[in-house]
Amino acid sequence: MQTLYYFMERKEWTNQEILDIYQQPLMDLLYQAASVHRANHDPNKVQVSSLISIKTGGCSEDCGYCPQAARYHTDIEGNDLMSVRQVKAQALRAKASGSSRVCLGAAWRNVKDGKDFDEVIEMVREITQLEMEVCCTLGMLTENQAKRLEEAGLYAYNHNIDSSEEYYKEVISTRAFEDRLETIGNVRKTSITLCSGGIIGMGESVEDRAGMLKILANMYPQPESVPINALVPVEGTPLEEQGPVSIFEMVRMVATTRIVLPQTQVRLSAGRTQMSEEGQALCFFAGANSIFAGDKLLTTPNPDIKQDMKLFNELSIKTQAPFEKHAKREPKEPVTPPLGENPKWTRPKHKIERNEQARIKAKNLSK
Ligand code: SF4
Repeated sequence: MQTLYYFMERKEWTNQEILDIYQQPLMDLLYQAASVHRANHDPNKVQVSSLISIKTGGCSEDCGYCPQAARYHTDIEGNDLMSVRQVKAQALRAKASGSSRVCLGAAWRNVKDGKDFDEVIEMVREITQLEMEVCCTLGMLTENQAKRLEEAGLYAYNHNIDSSEEYYKEVISTRAFEDRLETIGNVRKTSITLCSGGIIGMGESVEDRAGMLKILANMYPQPESVPINALVPVEGTPLEEQGPVSIFEMVRMVATTRIVLPQTQVRLSAGRTQMSEEGQALCFFAGANSIFAGDKLLTTPNPDIKQDMKLFNELSIKTQAPFEKHAKREPKEPVTPPLGENPKWTRPKHKIERNEQARIKAKNLSK
Protein backbone atom coordinates (compact mmCIF):
# COMPACT_ATOMS: atom_id res chain seq x y z
CA MET A 1 0.00 0.00 0.00
CA GLN A 2 1.06 3.57 -0.63
CA THR A 3 1.26 6.18 2.10
CA LEU A 4 -2.07 7.90 2.79
CA TYR A 5 -1.82 11.61 2.11
CA TYR A 6 -4.57 12.80 4.45
CA PHE A 7 -3.20 16.13 5.54
CA MET A 8 -0.76 16.76 2.83
CA GLU A 9 1.82 19.46 3.21
CA ARG A 10 3.44 20.86 0.12
CA LYS A 11 5.04 18.00 -1.76
CA GLU A 12 6.87 17.92 -5.08
CA TRP A 13 5.43 14.94 -6.90
CA THR A 14 7.47 13.02 -9.46
CA ASN A 15 6.02 11.26 -12.50
CA GLN A 16 7.11 7.91 -11.08
CA GLU A 17 5.33 8.43 -7.75
CA ILE A 18 2.10 9.29 -9.56
CA LEU A 19 2.51 6.37 -11.96
CA ASP A 20 3.02 4.02 -9.01
CA ILE A 21 -0.26 5.23 -7.54
CA TYR A 22 -2.10 4.94 -10.87
CA GLN A 23 -0.79 1.46 -11.63
CA GLN A 24 -1.24 -0.23 -8.25
CA PRO A 25 -3.87 -3.00 -7.96
CA LEU A 26 -7.27 -1.41 -8.51
CA MET A 27 -8.70 -2.47 -5.13
CA ASP A 28 -5.74 -0.91 -3.31
CA LEU A 29 -6.05 2.26 -5.40
CA LEU A 30 -9.78 2.51 -4.66
CA TYR A 31 -9.24 1.98 -0.94
CA GLN A 32 -6.53 4.62 -0.79
CA ALA A 33 -8.47 7.16 -2.86
CA ALA A 34 -11.70 6.64 -0.91
CA SER A 35 -9.78 7.10 2.36
CA VAL A 36 -8.24 10.38 1.16
CA HIS A 37 -11.64 11.48 -0.11
CA ARG A 38 -13.36 10.80 3.23
CA ALA A 39 -10.64 12.61 5.14
CA ASN A 40 -11.10 15.76 3.07
CA HIS A 41 -14.71 15.81 1.81
CA ASP A 42 -18.22 14.62 2.57
CA PRO A 43 -18.27 11.39 0.50
CA ASN A 44 -22.05 11.62 0.06
CA LYS A 45 -22.08 15.08 -1.47
CA VAL A 46 -21.57 15.96 -5.14
CA GLN A 47 -21.72 19.38 -6.75
CA VAL A 48 -23.92 19.81 -9.80
CA SER A 49 -22.61 22.36 -12.30
CA SER A 50 -24.09 23.53 -15.58
CA LEU A 51 -22.17 24.58 -18.65
CA ILE A 52 -23.56 27.33 -20.84
CA SER A 53 -21.94 27.77 -24.23
CA ILE A 54 -22.24 31.55 -24.48
CA LYS A 55 -20.43 31.67 -27.84
CA THR A 56 -20.24 28.49 -29.89
CA GLY A 57 -18.04 27.44 -32.79
CA GLY A 58 -15.91 29.35 -35.27
CA CYS A 59 -12.79 29.08 -33.10
CA SER A 60 -9.43 29.82 -34.72
CA GLU A 61 -7.56 27.14 -32.70
CA ASP A 62 -6.77 23.59 -33.86
CA CYS A 63 -7.41 21.54 -30.67
CA GLY A 64 -7.63 18.01 -32.07
CA TYR A 65 -10.54 16.99 -29.86
CA CYS A 66 -12.76 20.01 -30.44
CA PRO A 67 -15.71 20.25 -32.84
CA GLN A 68 -15.79 24.05 -32.32
CA ALA A 69 -12.55 24.59 -34.26
CA ALA A 70 -13.54 26.38 -37.46
CA ARG A 71 -11.00 24.46 -39.53
CA TYR A 72 -12.70 21.05 -39.06
CA HIS A 73 -15.91 19.90 -40.70
CA THR A 74 -18.37 19.05 -37.90
CA ASP A 75 -22.10 19.57 -37.65
CA ILE A 76 -21.83 22.10 -34.82
CA GLU A 77 -24.16 25.05 -35.13
CA GLY A 78 -22.23 28.15 -34.20
CA ASN A 79 -23.68 31.19 -32.49
CA ASP A 80 -22.45 34.68 -31.66
CA LEU A 81 -22.20 35.79 -28.06
CA MET A 82 -25.51 35.27 -26.25
CA SER A 83 -27.16 38.23 -24.56
CA VAL A 84 -26.95 38.79 -20.80
CA ARG A 85 -30.72 38.21 -20.59
CA GLN A 86 -30.49 34.82 -22.37
CA VAL A 87 -27.61 33.63 -20.21
CA LYS A 88 -29.31 34.74 -17.01
CA ALA A 89 -32.48 32.86 -18.00
CA GLN A 90 -30.45 29.69 -18.61
CA ALA A 91 -28.64 30.11 -15.29
CA LEU A 92 -31.98 30.42 -13.48
CA ARG A 93 -33.18 27.20 -15.11
CA ALA A 94 -29.95 25.47 -14.10
CA LYS A 95 -30.39 26.68 -10.51
CA ALA A 96 -33.99 25.43 -10.43
CA SER A 97 -32.85 21.97 -11.50
CA GLY A 98 -30.23 21.72 -8.76
CA SER A 99 -27.04 23.34 -10.09
CA SER A 100 -25.02 25.46 -7.68
CA ARG A 101 -22.45 26.50 -10.26
CA VAL A 102 -22.56 27.70 -13.86
CA CYS A 103 -19.65 27.67 -16.21
CA LEU A 104 -19.79 30.18 -19.07
CA GLY A 105 -17.80 28.91 -22.05
CA ALA A 106 -16.83 30.96 -25.10
CA ALA A 107 -15.00 29.44 -28.09
CA TRP A 108 -12.28 32.10 -28.12
CA ARG A 109 -8.52 31.75 -28.48
CA ASN A 110 -8.10 34.52 -25.91
CA VAL A 111 -10.06 37.32 -24.34
CA LYS A 112 -10.01 40.62 -26.20
CA ASP A 113 -10.97 43.84 -24.51
CA GLY A 114 -14.11 45.35 -26.00
CA LYS A 115 -17.87 45.03 -26.16
CA ASP A 116 -18.04 41.21 -25.95
CA PHE A 117 -15.81 41.02 -22.90
CA ASP A 118 -17.82 43.83 -21.26
CA GLU A 119 -20.94 41.73 -21.83
CA VAL A 120 -19.32 38.70 -20.23
CA ILE A 121 -18.38 40.81 -17.20
CA GLU A 122 -22.02 41.86 -16.95
CA MET A 123 -23.09 38.18 -17.12
CA VAL A 124 -20.74 37.36 -14.24
CA ARG A 125 -22.18 40.21 -12.13
CA GLU A 126 -25.78 39.21 -12.82
CA ILE A 127 -25.37 35.47 -12.19
CA THR A 128 -23.30 35.98 -9.04
CA GLN A 129 -26.32 37.95 -7.69
CA LEU A 130 -28.38 34.77 -8.22
CA GLU A 131 -26.27 33.16 -5.45
CA MET A 132 -24.54 30.79 -7.84
CA GLU A 133 -20.83 30.13 -8.28
CA VAL A 134 -19.80 31.50 -11.66
CA CYS A 135 -16.91 30.03 -13.60
CA CYS A 136 -15.72 31.32 -16.97
CA THR A 137 -13.73 29.55 -19.66
CA LEU A 138 -12.82 32.14 -22.27
CA GLY A 139 -9.33 31.19 -23.42
CA MET A 140 -6.10 32.97 -22.62
CA LEU A 141 -6.36 35.90 -20.28
CA THR A 142 -4.14 38.79 -19.19
CA GLU A 143 -3.66 39.97 -15.63
CA ASN A 144 -5.73 43.12 -16.26
CA GLN A 145 -8.59 41.03 -17.69
CA ALA A 146 -8.43 38.64 -14.72
CA LYS A 147 -8.66 41.63 -12.33
CA ARG A 148 -11.76 42.91 -14.12
CA LEU A 149 -13.42 39.50 -13.80
CA GLU A 150 -12.47 39.41 -10.12
CA GLU A 151 -14.17 42.77 -9.55
CA ALA A 152 -17.31 41.39 -11.19
CA GLY A 153 -17.38 38.63 -8.54
CA LEU A 154 -16.08 35.74 -10.68
CA TYR A 155 -15.70 32.67 -8.50
CA ALA A 156 -13.57 30.46 -10.78
CA TYR A 157 -11.69 30.53 -14.06
CA ASN A 158 -11.28 27.35 -16.07
CA HIS A 159 -8.19 26.85 -18.19
CA ASN A 160 -7.36 23.20 -18.81
CA ILE A 161 -3.83 22.04 -19.44
CA ASP A 162 -5.41 19.12 -21.36
CA SER A 163 -2.52 16.61 -21.11
CA SER A 164 1.17 16.35 -20.29
CA GLU A 165 3.37 19.11 -21.71
CA GLU A 166 4.87 16.59 -24.18
CA TYR A 167 1.53 15.24 -25.46
CA TYR A 168 -0.05 18.69 -25.64
CA LYS A 169 2.14 19.30 -28.71
CA GLU A 170 0.56 16.26 -30.41
CA VAL A 171 -2.93 17.70 -30.06
CA ILE A 172 -2.64 21.49 -30.46
CA SER A 173 -0.28 23.50 -32.64
CA THR A 174 -1.81 26.97 -32.49
CA ARG A 175 -0.76 27.87 -28.97
CA ALA A 176 1.96 26.87 -26.56
CA PHE A 177 1.68 25.04 -23.27
CA GLU A 178 3.54 27.93 -21.59
CA ASP A 179 0.69 30.28 -22.58
CA ARG A 180 -1.70 28.05 -20.63
CA LEU A 181 0.55 28.30 -17.60
CA GLU A 182 0.85 32.06 -18.01
CA THR A 183 -2.94 32.46 -18.03
CA ILE A 184 -3.16 30.26 -14.94
CA GLY A 185 -0.53 32.52 -13.34
CA ASN A 186 -2.63 35.59 -14.20
CA VAL A 187 -5.69 34.02 -12.55
CA ARG A 188 -3.56 33.29 -9.48
CA LYS A 189 -2.76 37.01 -9.13
CA THR A 190 -6.43 37.47 -8.14
CA SER A 191 -8.73 35.82 -5.59
CA ILE A 192 -10.52 33.88 -8.36
CA THR A 193 -10.27 30.13 -7.76
CA LEU A 194 -8.62 27.98 -10.42
CA CYS A 195 -10.23 25.15 -12.37
CA SER A 196 -7.78 23.21 -14.54
CA GLY A 197 -7.71 19.61 -15.70
CA GLY A 198 -7.59 17.60 -18.86
CA ILE A 199 -8.80 14.88 -21.15
CA ILE A 200 -7.91 11.21 -21.29
CA GLY A 201 -8.39 8.96 -24.30
CA MET A 202 -6.65 11.18 -26.87
CA GLY A 203 -4.00 8.52 -27.57
CA GLU A 204 -1.73 9.60 -24.73
CA SER A 205 0.25 7.14 -22.61
CA VAL A 206 -0.28 6.52 -18.89
CA GLU A 207 3.00 8.42 -18.41
CA ASP A 208 1.32 11.44 -20.04
CA ARG A 209 -1.62 11.13 -17.66
CA ALA A 210 0.80 11.05 -14.73
CA GLY A 211 2.68 13.98 -16.29
CA MET A 212 -0.48 16.07 -16.45
CA LEU A 213 -1.35 15.29 -12.83
CA LYS A 214 2.21 16.10 -11.79
CA ILE A 215 1.90 19.63 -13.17
CA LEU A 216 -1.46 20.18 -11.46
CA ALA A 217 -0.44 18.58 -8.16
CA ASN A 218 2.80 20.58 -7.99
CA MET A 219 1.04 23.92 -8.42
CA TYR A 220 1.05 25.90 -5.23
CA PRO A 221 -1.68 26.34 -4.22
CA GLN A 222 -3.17 23.36 -6.01
CA PRO A 223 -6.15 24.10 -8.30
CA GLU A 224 -9.39 24.24 -6.34
CA SER A 225 -11.10 22.31 -9.13
CA VAL A 226 -9.85 19.65 -11.57
CA PRO A 227 -12.12 18.38 -14.36
CA ILE A 228 -11.31 14.92 -15.69
CA ASN A 229 -12.80 14.40 -19.14
CA ALA A 230 -12.96 11.24 -21.24
CA LEU A 231 -12.64 12.09 -24.92
CA VAL A 232 -15.92 12.11 -26.81
CA PRO A 233 -14.69 11.56 -30.39
CA VAL A 234 -16.59 13.79 -32.81
CA GLU A 235 -16.77 13.09 -36.54
CA GLY A 236 -14.70 15.54 -38.53
CA THR A 237 -12.17 16.24 -35.76
CA PRO A 238 -8.62 14.82 -35.93
CA LEU A 239 -9.40 12.49 -33.00
CA GLU A 240 -12.63 11.11 -34.51
CA GLU A 241 -11.29 7.56 -34.65
CA GLN A 242 -10.02 7.27 -31.09
CA GLY A 243 -11.46 4.25 -29.26
CA PRO A 244 -13.42 4.74 -26.03
CA VAL A 245 -11.75 5.06 -22.63
CA SER A 246 -12.58 2.06 -20.42
CA ILE A 247 -14.38 2.72 -17.17
CA PHE A 248 -11.43 1.32 -15.24
CA GLU A 249 -9.06 3.82 -16.85
CA MET A 250 -11.45 6.59 -15.85
CA VAL A 251 -11.72 5.25 -12.30
CA ARG A 252 -7.94 5.01 -12.04
CA MET A 253 -7.56 8.58 -13.28
CA VAL A 254 -10.18 9.94 -10.87
CA ALA A 255 -8.71 7.99 -7.95
CA THR A 256 -5.15 9.13 -8.69
CA THR A 257 -6.32 12.73 -9.04
CA ARG A 258 -8.05 12.48 -5.68
CA ILE A 259 -4.91 11.15 -3.97
CA VAL A 260 -2.48 13.73 -5.35
CA LEU A 261 -4.95 16.64 -5.10
CA PRO A 262 -6.72 15.77 -1.83
CA GLN A 263 -8.66 18.98 -1.28
CA THR A 264 -9.58 19.70 -4.87
CA GLN A 265 -13.07 19.35 -6.25
CA VAL A 266 -12.61 16.53 -8.79
CA ARG A 267 -15.09 16.93 -11.63
CA LEU A 268 -16.37 13.96 -13.59
CA SER A 269 -16.84 15.82 -16.84
CA ALA A 270 -17.21 14.84 -20.52
CA GLY A 271 -17.76 11.21 -21.37
CA ARG A 272 -20.41 10.31 -18.78
CA THR A 273 -22.87 9.15 -21.47
CA GLN A 274 -20.45 6.31 -22.23
CA MET A 275 -20.43 5.24 -18.55
CA SER A 276 -22.90 2.98 -16.77
CA GLU A 277 -24.49 4.15 -13.52
CA GLU A 278 -22.35 1.59 -11.70
CA GLY A 279 -19.25 3.06 -13.36
CA GLN A 280 -20.20 6.57 -12.28
CA ALA A 281 -20.86 5.34 -8.72
CA LEU A 282 -17.37 3.86 -8.69
CA CYS A 283 -15.97 7.25 -9.77
CA PHE A 284 -17.82 8.93 -6.85
CA PHE A 285 -16.38 6.32 -4.49
CA ALA A 286 -12.91 7.00 -5.93
CA GLY A 287 -13.22 10.71 -5.18
CA ALA A 288 -15.17 12.48 -7.92
CA ASN A 289 -17.38 15.07 -6.27
CA SER A 290 -18.85 17.06 -9.10
CA ILE A 291 -20.74 16.42 -12.31
CA PHE A 292 -21.88 18.65 -15.14
CA ALA A 293 -25.62 18.60 -15.70
CA GLY A 294 -27.68 19.22 -18.80
CA ASP A 295 -28.11 17.26 -21.99
CA LYS A 296 -25.14 19.01 -23.66
CA LEU A 297 -21.63 19.64 -22.42
CA LEU A 298 -20.81 22.65 -24.59
CA THR A 299 -21.37 20.66 -27.78
CA THR A 300 -21.08 16.99 -26.81
CA PRO A 301 -23.88 14.83 -25.35
CA ASN A 302 -24.37 14.50 -21.58
CA PRO A 303 -26.91 12.61 -19.41
CA ASP A 304 -30.24 14.25 -18.65
CA ILE A 305 -30.46 15.95 -15.22
CA LYS A 306 -33.49 13.80 -14.24
CA GLN A 307 -31.40 10.69 -14.81
CA ASP A 308 -28.61 12.18 -12.66
CA MET A 309 -31.01 13.02 -9.84
CA LYS A 310 -32.46 9.49 -9.97
CA LEU A 311 -28.95 8.09 -9.61
CA PHE A 312 -28.19 10.48 -6.71
CA ASN A 313 -31.38 9.27 -4.98
CA GLU A 314 -30.39 5.66 -5.39
CA LEU A 315 -26.93 6.37 -3.97
CA SER A 316 -28.28 8.75 -1.25
CA ILE A 317 -26.01 11.47 -2.60
CA LYS A 318 -26.86 15.05 -1.67
CA THR A 319 -26.03 18.04 -3.81
CA GLN A 320 -23.50 20.61 -2.69
CA ALA A 321 -24.75 24.14 -1.98
CA PRO A 322 -23.04 27.13 -3.62
CA PHE A 323 -20.01 28.62 -1.86
CA GLU A 324 -19.68 25.58 0.45
CA LYS A 325 -16.01 25.12 -0.35
CA HIS A 326 -14.86 28.73 -0.77
CA ALA A 327 -16.40 32.07 0.17
CA LYS A 328 -18.48 34.05 -2.29
CA ARG A 329 -16.67 36.88 -4.12
CA GLU A 330 -18.96 39.87 -3.80
CA PRO A 331 -19.06 42.00 -6.97
CA LYS A 332 -17.30 45.34 -6.39
CA GLU A 333 -17.42 48.68 -8.10
CA PRO A 334 -15.19 48.34 -11.19
CA VAL A 335 -11.96 50.24 -10.63
CA THR A 336 -9.63 48.50 -13.09
CA PRO A 337 -9.87 50.18 -16.50
CA PRO A 338 -9.57 48.03 -19.63
CA LEU A 339 -6.20 48.39 -21.33
CA GLY A 340 -7.53 47.68 -24.83
CA GLU A 341 -5.57 44.45 -24.74
CA ASN A 342 -5.29 41.88 -27.48
CA PRO A 343 -1.83 40.48 -26.75
CA LYS A 344 0.05 38.32 -29.18
CA TRP A 345 0.05 34.93 -27.49
CA THR A 346 2.45 32.34 -28.88
CA ARG A 347 1.69 30.46 -32.12
CA PRO A 348 4.15 27.53 -32.31
CA LYS A 349 2.57 26.23 -35.56
CA HIS A 350 4.42 22.91 -35.66
CA LYS A 351 2.70 20.39 -37.94
CA ILE A 352 0.43 17.75 -36.43
CA GLU A 353 -0.25 15.26 -39.23
CA ARG A 354 -3.78 14.22 -38.16
CA ASN A 355 -4.85 17.86 -37.62
CA GLU A 356 -3.59 18.69 -41.11
CA GLN A 357 -5.50 15.76 -42.61
CA ALA A 358 -8.73 16.77 -40.85
CA ARG A 359 -8.30 20.35 -42.11
CA ILE A 360 -7.74 19.21 -45.71
CA LYS A 361 -10.70 16.81 -45.52
CA ALA A 362 -12.92 19.66 -44.25
CA LYS A 363 -11.71 21.94 -47.05
CA ASN A 364 -12.51 19.33 -49.70
CA LEU A 365 -15.95 18.70 -48.20
CA SER A 366 -16.84 22.38 -48.33
CA LYS A 367 -15.92 22.72 -52.06
S1 SF4 B 1 -11.07 23.72 -27.17
FE1 SF4 B 1 -11.50 25.92 -27.02
S2 SF4 B 1 -9.71 26.88 -27.90
FE2 SF4 B 1 -9.66 24.75 -28.61
S3 SF4 B 1 -10.73 24.79 -30.60
FE3 SF4 B 1 -12.25 24.32 -29.02
S4 SF4 B 1 -13.16 26.27 -28.49
FE4 SF4 B 1 -11.23 26.70 -29.54
